[in-house]
Amino acid sequence: MSSDKKLKPETLAISAGRPVPVPDGELNTPIALNSTFHAGGPIGYGRYGNETWTALEDAIGALEGGQTLVFASGQAAASAIFNLLPIGAPVVLSDEGYQGIAALLKGYHESGRLDVRFVEATNSEAVLEAAKGAALLWLESPTNPALEHVDLQAIIAGAKKLGVGVAVDNTLATPLTQRPLEFGADIVMHSVTKYFAGHSDVILGSISTNDPALYKRLGDVRKLSGAIPGPFEVWLALRGIRTFPLRFRAAEANAKELAKRLAGHPKVSKVRYPGFGGMISFELTCDAAGTDLVTQSAKIITNTTSLGGIESMWERRRRWATESHKISESLIRFSVGCEDVDDLWDDITASLGKI
Ligand SMILES: *Cc1c(COP(=O)(O)O)cnc(C)c1O
Repeated sequence: MSSDKKLKPETLAISAGRPVPVPDGELNTPIALNSTFHAGGPIGYGRYGNETWTALEDAIGALEGGQTLVFASGQAAASAIFNLLPIGAPVVLSDEGYQGIAALLKGYHESGRLDVRFVEATNSEAVLEAAKGAALLWLESPTNPALEHVDLQAIIAGAKKLGVGVAVDNTLATPLTQRPLEFGADIVMHSVTKYFAGHSDVILGSISTNDPALYKRLGDVRKLSGAIPGPFEVWLALRGIRTFPLRFRAAEANAKELAKRLAGHPKVSKVRYPGFGGMISFELTCDAAGTDLVTQSAKIITNTTSLGGIESMWERRRRWATESHKISESLIRFSVGCEDVDDLWDDITASLGKI
């Protein structure tokens, strides 16, 4: 965990998680390729920890302001949280959140593992009403892919009064725009795969918390369930996180400009942009087939289902059967990358020209 909370995230992303400086000591933490450690130290065994994990955990921890654990994926991080809940525990989550988490929880609901209630997260009163008696409230803002704003601050304050645990998936917003632990959230989760790692070459997740007992329990789940990350993936993410603020701000500058230009395009019926970050969702005047044609026609922007990479990517979200039916058939979720903004605009207008 960072010892210096006064530093800005731009500095922390670069300076946190480094080895202690000693003459001829390494500037970067190496990739720890050991399952086995000599007895007597704090780590003990490769499933329990290693210096590469610790370095990334220190960096993410400094950015989110909490003690951090890295996991094999964002889904594994979320699973570790659900793992702590007793059988049949009520869990409340947004009906417009990330589909992978929703699918995981639907499965737990059907098997009786958890009692899952979906709620419209943009309606703060409805969320807090549904949260009464719940064990966990799972939040995400902006919602994905509708990119609607959820009032995290008000909802978390209300949930705390009700004694309900709160976890926030901060993958889309990142700590550059909000730090939910400061609002009182118990846990912040990340798909490190996205903006933190940032190069579309690793799957990884994390959990951050300020509650030492919760940190210990989540660490025990990781240890014993064994869904641990590989040191090489962790090292890649650590390398990626050094440039995360630069990439995020460059993508954001592009996204702000492209959201403006898209709003003036005659084939675009609606632009959803939260006002920050690199994600834009926009809807077209055509049907699903026309929208597919657009997403498949781009030469620079890839037709892929991830986000937060340095490369621009987009997709028609309803091509997935699991996507919420509240989402329009013509909605394109666009993760804006760091390419030249005019090159991107030319690619977009050429693609829209196909319909
Ligand atoms: C991708 C994603 C996840 C899942 O993370 P993985 O690293 O793919 O397991 C969870 N939440 C959000 C918001 C995501 O975008």
